[in-house]
Amino acid sequence: MRCDAVIFGGGIAGLWLLDECRRGGYSVVLLENRALGSGQTVASQGIIHGGLKYTLSGMLTKSAANISEMPLVWRECFAGQSEPDLSDTTIRSNYCYLWRTQSLTSRLGMIGAKVGLRVAPENISANDVPPVLKGCPGTVAKLEEQVMSPPSLIANLYERNRDVILKYNAQTGCEFQTGKPSQIEQITITTEKGESLKLMPSRVIFTAGKGNATLREQVGLSTSAMQLRPLHMVMVRGNLPEFNGHCIDGSKTRVTITSDRDIRGQTIWQIGGQVSEVGVEMTADELIAHTQQELSEVLPALDQDRLEWGTYRVDRAERKTGGGKRPESFAIKSEGNTLTVWPTKLVLAPVVAAAILPKITYDATWSNQEQQTLAAWGKPPVALPPWEVPGNWSHRPLRKSA
Ligand SMILES: Cc1cc2nc3c(=O)[nH]c(=O)nc-3n(C[C@H](O)[C@H](O)[C@H](O)COP(=O)(O)OP(=O)(O)OC[C@H]3O[C@@H](n4cnc5c(N)ncnc54)[C@H](O)[C@@H]3O)c2cc1C
Repeated sequence: MRCDAVIFGGGIAGLWLLDECRRGGYSVVLLENRALGSGQTVASQGIIHGGLKYTLSGMLTKSAANISEMPLVWRECFAGQSEPDLSDTTIRSNYCYLWRTQSLTSRLGMIGAKVGLRVAPENISANDVPPVLKGCPGTVAKLEEQVMSPPSLIANLYERNRDVILKYNAQTGCEFQTGKPSQIEQITITTEKGESLKLMPSRVIFTAGKGNATLREQVGLSTSAMQLRPLHMVMVRGNLPEFNGHCIDGSKTRVTITSDRDIRGQTIWQIGGQVSEVGVEMTADELIAHTQQELSEVLPALDQDRLEWGTYRVDRAERKTGGGKRPESFAIKSEGNTLTVWPTKLVLAPVVAAAILPKITYDATWSNQEQQTLAAWGKPPVALPPWEVPGNWSHRPLRKSA
């Protein structure tokens, strides 16, 4: 089967690109090795960033500036007013709160947060401050960055493109035929039952996150083009308010909290920011103790009794930078007919897809039978969010009710 492109990996980068390609009339297939969104997308906090973190660290440079347009682009998609129509995606909140602690760096950071953002924070009156932020010093601001549920976003894009999304086994069920190392002429995928499909792509696009390393190795490309930056995230559940926000401290977000609900309807907080960076070197129990201490300082009104705590580790997969720093923006590496993609941020998926689209040409037209073969092929599931993975909660409770 000839294809205009074959995409490897159904996280946000691959699925958004697939959707763009299909709306553009291209004959494109997406191959997924595990569950859609496994790795970073489903583990993410789902914030539709407009560049706050880049502003704080002075990295809102020209190349990073396209992030400031993203809240408006996504908002229209969530409202069903622009393509892709993402009106089936669950919006956790239409805004985030910004607050600070007593420290001077924290005060200066809060000022920095107000400079240079397209979607700028607005101070709220004392009456509108949510109870969980009572006792926090200084003014509290609201930032119109939406927070969505990543598993529902993945499911939304999957439903729109289901017929051309195929499950395969990268270890045992995939063979590449290459001319030169970066020129992939044929990809054969085989199921456990022995059914096989030969794809002849004009373009091959790796959007497999951490899995890009193995894919690149398989086709003879260097793996030194990318870096992994680990995070150790904290989760907490129990009698918690729904709350989304950043505690600003200098050029950092001391904690970033997002909320969702688990299948039993309990509120879950995902906690990232500095705690998840410093937590990389800690055990789960150490990180939980550290986060409890941090929360008692940054959210003094929060009642931490009878909460259940968990953690999970996840690597951010990015193009390599000097000194292992966060890249300024997304990266696309072009070699032969392959493109390797690192979006850096979930919100950048629309600009990543727009940059790739002109590199795809109309070479293939599928027959009805070919379309039916693709539609009938095995489909991958959507990955579970980290709080539905039982092993992530198996830590001893460190703080009990008095
Ligand atoms: C904890 C955390 C919080 C974050 N929060 C935010 C946030 O709030 N806002 C934001 O904008 N960004 C956030 N990010 C960044 C964002 O999550 C990532 O930039 C983005 O999700 C990367 O998407 P991706 O599609 O490139 O990769 P991934 O989401 O990692 O997806 C890769 C896909 O490829 C599949 N795959 C792997 N190997 C193969 C293979 N050999 N063949 C086929 N498929 C394969 C995987 O199963 C998976 O489906 C966060 C990241 C982390 C880690």
